[in-house]
Amino acid sequence: MKTFTPLTRRRFIGQLSIATAAALSLPRSLRAATSATSGKKLGIAFAGLGGYATHQLAPAIAETEHLRIAGVITGTASKGEQWRRKYDLPAGSVYSYETLDRVADNPEIDIVYVVTPPGTHRDLVVRAAKAGKHVICEKPMATNVADCDAMIAACREAGKQLGIGYRLHYEPHHQMLDRLAADPQFGPFRKMQGGFGFRMPGGRPWRLNKQLAGGGPLPDVGIYVIQAARRGAGGVWPVAVTAKEHPKTRPEVFTEVEETITWTMEFPGGATAEGWSSYNDQRNDFRAENADGRNWLEIGPAYTYGGLEGRTSRGAMDVRNINQQAAQLEDFARCVLENRETPVGGEMGRRDIAVIEAIYASAAAGGKRVEVPGL
Ligand code: NAD
Repeated sequence: MKTFTPLTRRRFIGQLSIATAAALSLPRSLRAATSATSGKKLGIAFAGLGGYATHQLAPAIAETEHLRIAGVITGTASKGEQWRRKYDLPAGSVYSYETLDRVADNPEIDIVYVVTPPGTHRDLVVRAAKAGKHVICEKPMATNVADCDAMIAACREAGKQLGIGYRLHYEPHHQMLDRLAADPQFGPFRKMQGGFGFRMPGGRPWRLNKQLAGGGPLPDVGIYVIQAARRGAGGVWPVAVTAKEHPKTRPEVFTEVEETITWTMEFPGGATAEGWSSYNDQRNDFRAENADGRNWLEIGPAYTYGGLEGRTSRGAMDVRNINQQAAQLEDFARCVLENRETPVGGEMGRRDIAVIEAIYASAAAGGKRVEVPGL
């Protein structure tokens, strides 16, 4: 029986910040510069100066070797001015959403990082690509697969990279999950389960607005469970899902999106994963086990910015926490500088959205099994 501990988003974010402060810096492998990258710093402009850009991404830039903040795109001129002063940005490097297209004329900006609500991602990503910039887009990539397709096409047409903000791709506990899943002496994993949720306060944050968020906790935090299960399954995507939306305990708050949802993913080869995500209750865990249950792995806390802990049937995971955002940002910069494709590209973001659409379709159909379309 799960114990109920209310955790507001504010406290949740607070815990994340404490964890981030405690987190160590970049892994050595990302610190060593190659001849193609040494000495160069790419200019990045953040579009959307909300919580994540302000408290996580911008501070992480100082921990990277190949990035510097070169501009901002914001709907609030005073915030833009604050950032301009704080990061010593040149005049003319603060844009509004209306003038975003003018970044095309700013050679100091190489990358636009879109950190706004998901319903706005398509427009901003497409325009940044058309302005000739590489783009990083926060998760969830968009609110539907059609928007993902348009974003991928725009970046491809512009010959620019599109990366999605999957910070855990670079996280050592999750990388151990990849390794053990691929190790025939340990994996493959057949049964997985994971949950991520927190107590969402009332009011009208965009996270409760279906058009802007694309859904409730599922695309916001459940997406991390989908990603972990995909990694536990050896990097493949689920072929089918079944899902159930749970009755709302605060229907007055959750008028547009689900409050709690559970789902099952079926992977090629027969592995399954049980997912849970909620804006009413707290969970932050992942577990995977092999066919006879003798080899297993657990991570918990599993998805926060730092303070992750893991153990396996062999003992505690001997890996450290890192600054996940810095590792993610630095690798994207190197991919651009070395002309390598980012490992966390638009196709990965699109696949998650296809899984999320299938989960919602199943829940709407009373738990019917729904196949997840391939690429
Ligand atoms: P936030 O509410 O703190 O900030 C959102 C920003 O977008 C604000 O500055 C707001 O002014 C701006 N904005 C632009 N258009 C808007 C519109 N139409 N409606 C509302 N706001 C608009 O949100 P956040 O927590 O910073 O999240 C932003 C994005 O980052 C989301 O995609 C979210 O899922 C993602 N995120 C990712 C992580 C992660 O760990 N990777 C963590 C937090 C948030």
